[in-house]
Amino acid sequence: MSNTIKKIAVFTSGGDSPGMNAAIRSVVRACAFHQIECVGIYRGYEGMIEGDFKAMNARSVKGIINKGGTILKSARSKAFRTTEGRKKAHDALVKEGVDAFVVIGGDGSFTGAMIFSQEYGMPVMGIPGTIDNDIYGTTHTLGYDTALNTVVDAIDKIRDTASSHNRLFFVEVMGRDVGHIALNVGVGAGAEEILIPEEDLGLERLLESLRRSKQSGKSSSIVVVAEGDKIGKNVFQLKDYVEENMTEYEVRVSVLGHMQRGGSPSCFDRVLASRMGVKAVESLLSGENNCMVGLKNDLMTLTPLDQAVKGKSKINMELLRVSDIMTV
Ligand code: ATP
Repeated sequence: MSNTIKKIAVFTSGGDSPGMNAAIRSVVRACAFHQIECVGIYRGYEGMIEGDFKAMNARSVKGIINKGGTILKSARSKAFRTTEGRKKAHDALVKEGVDAFVVIGGDGSFTGAMIFSQEYGMPVMGIPGTIDNDIYGTTHTLGYDTALNTVVDAIDKIRDTASSHNRLFFVEVMGRDVGHIALNVGVGAGAEEILIPEEDLGLERLLESLRRSKQSGKSSSIVVVAEGDKIGKNVFQLKDYVEENMTEYEVRVSVLGHMQRGGSPSCFDRVLASRMGVKAVESLLSGENNCMVGLKNDLMTLTPLDQAVKGKSKINMELLRVSDIMTV
């Protein structure tokens, strides 16, 4: 491995997700293993601009593999979107002696890293950290598996009350642009319908489906709705529409919100984070640049950041068919 890189910075940016701490730990320990200095940057690009750095060694990251959130904090930085802001960030990195950085975040954070690397020639590596799983170039982003488990657990609990009172529940889950969470938890929690941005089910078909479900003898139902569902109504408007058109149902809404982003990471996310951190550091040391590490066919891969940012993450259409069959 090349020895031109002597000091690597690591930070978290954009929305937090479970597994970010495990990834920080992995980057720090991979640096220690390869005898490279490592520095943590607090509050993402905002902290980079302000020079909010902290030297990290293998012991600095003890006891965090199981913790949700991010010990380095996360932030969104307007200043980093400007050339002046990025110049300040570069000056701060040079002053600190940083040769390369690893950014843990989503596509916005990767865009910032790409622009910065083009402007200043600094090697950068991305680790995809977001519960939405909406990044091209990896089958799993950090935090996605944990969020699936959190949401399935919540829906199981909602089903207890739905079936006790013969109610229909609309459960809104995260996913503005892609329906990965809704589709998977919908199948995993046995939802009657799953509304996702990729498919416009239409109000009539939704009513038909709910009528069929009622006629087949079901006394309660769960409909999982992704935030970005294309049916054209928010989850409360859907409730009103169904109540007006199906008086036999008493409808309730549950918006799961930010609890989906919290909690201790699943074993899958801890292992993924550990693998991604090692891959990110070793890729930088081998001279790779401007890429995102990802998981494909259980192998660690690199995808150029511009492709990761531009590409579209696709849902598994087979799951829609499986869901239809399960709700027969
Ligand atoms: P999330 O999954 O939460 O959306 P994200 O990484 O996509 O995560 P963003 O808020 O889009 O979150 O981006 C995080 C930060 O990256 C921004 O606050 C900004 O500092 C930086 N960034 C995003 N886009 C650009 C850009 N075009 N140029 C420079 N910096 C950018």
